[in-house]
Amino acid sequence: MTTSAYATTNTFLKRAMDALAIDPSYEVLLVTPRREVRVELSIRMDDGRIGNFIGYRVQHDNARGPYKGGLRYHPDVDLDEVRSLASLMTWKTAVVDVPFGGAKGGIQVDPTKLTENELERLTRRFVDQIHDVIGPLADIPAPDVNTSAKIMGWFFDQYSNRHGFAPGVVTGKPVSLHGSLGREAATGRGCLVAIREALAADGKKLAGTRFAIQGFGNVGSFFARLAHAEGARIVAVSDVKGGVCAADGLDVPKLVEHVKTTGSVIGFEGALPMTNAEILAADCDVLVPAALGHVIDEKVAHEVRAKYVLEAANGPCTLEGADVLDERGVLVLPDIWANAGGVTVSYFEWTQNLQQMRWSEARVNELLEEHMVQAHVHLRAMMKRLNCTMRTAAFALAIERVRAATDLRGLG
Ligand code: NAD
Repeated sequence: MTTSAYATTNTFLKRAMDALAIDPSYEVLLVTPRREVRVELSIRMDDGRIGNFIGYRVQHDNARGPYKGGLRYHPDVDLDEVRSLASLMTWKTAVVDVPFGGAKGGIQVDPTKLTENELERLTRRFVDQIHDVIGPLADIPAPDVNTSAKIMGWFFDQYSNRHGFAPGVVTGKPVSLHGSLGREAATGRGCLVAIREALAADGKKLAGTRFAIQGFGNVGSFFARLAHAEGARIVAVSDVKGGVCAADGLDVPKLVEHVKTTGSVIGFEGALPMTNAEILAADCDVLVPAALGHVIDEKVAHEVRAKYVLEAANGPCTLEGADVLDERGVLVLPDIWANAGGVTVSYFEWTQNLQQMRWSEARVNELLEEHMVQAHVHLRAMMKRLNCTMRTAAFALAIERVRAATDLRGLG
């Protein structure tokens, strides 16, 4: 049986706590979310019916700063998954050393079945139901799966209707509505820095390295574009409808145009079709899961041919899958570092909002690079100190930081 998302995160956490020989009395404090909110969202649908949806916001830890984490609109959203993702945010913000805690939220909904007006009403109703537990200095949501900059704009507007002008209540907003330059590409860009550093530590270069990418949304497509521009070969790509591959590498800029006109990577001229299952076992150097969680289970992990797995998605490996990859000597760049570029630039967006300043894209990218590279240096030191995997090192680094903040603030 596959371990649940939340239990998987907690097992990773426990391994790091054991490696650090942390006083067990911290365990409950570090594992348990501080607050869990579940709300019913009833909206008028365009055809006059009432639509009922369930929304969640889980606030995991705020020892290091306001709660921070994305909002996901997906039919599979449930409390277990949101708890797991909220916890991951606590550790992620600590690994890249941005002054936030961790949270996550979502609505159990298939947004493709809603009209844009219904989606806007649902988002505004969600804000109405949680506005008293969030805020620019309390809890700052952001985009995640199926939640766009436009949705973040509605979120900001609805919160501001109640509390006055407050762009810092949410990040990932459109650039023309207090968003940050560089935010849209930030997660993909951060992933690129992460794999570049990991390859360099093994004496390898991005140029010529072969990547297979599952998911061609915000993260996957920006990563593909940036990696392609660095001379990497993108040999396979997929989205929810299926995938395409080309051993010599796909022409990514043309693929992006194809997706813009057709809505999917499938049918891309000159490429062969490939299923989503096949892409995980594709012949490549680096596998990049950039869609949903739990796609690399025990069976799939045995089939992975890549030497590196770059966890662009949150929680793409099951516990069993992660263990098989470790046993097989595959270097896994853990999500709490690899995809932390998004929250890092969200921090820059929030900072700009609080200061009412606009930074240049070059400044944003330069500081993002600094945070990702610095985290890699600290991760390698922790791997050496504890003689452990990069994932355990990432959790250990984060735990030390969160525990230090918790101790210094005091429990009262
Ligand atoms: P997105 O909605 O923009 O894109 C998701 C992509 O995955 C789409 O191409 C979609 O077609 C594909 N997909 C969905 N279901 C699939 C399936 N069953 N099989 C194959 N492909 C499927 O989402 P995103 O923002 O790119 O997020 C992707 C992942 O990255 C998520 O796990 C998210 O939590 C994580 N993440 C995102 C950010 C961010 O800044 N957007 C930051 C950190 C982590």
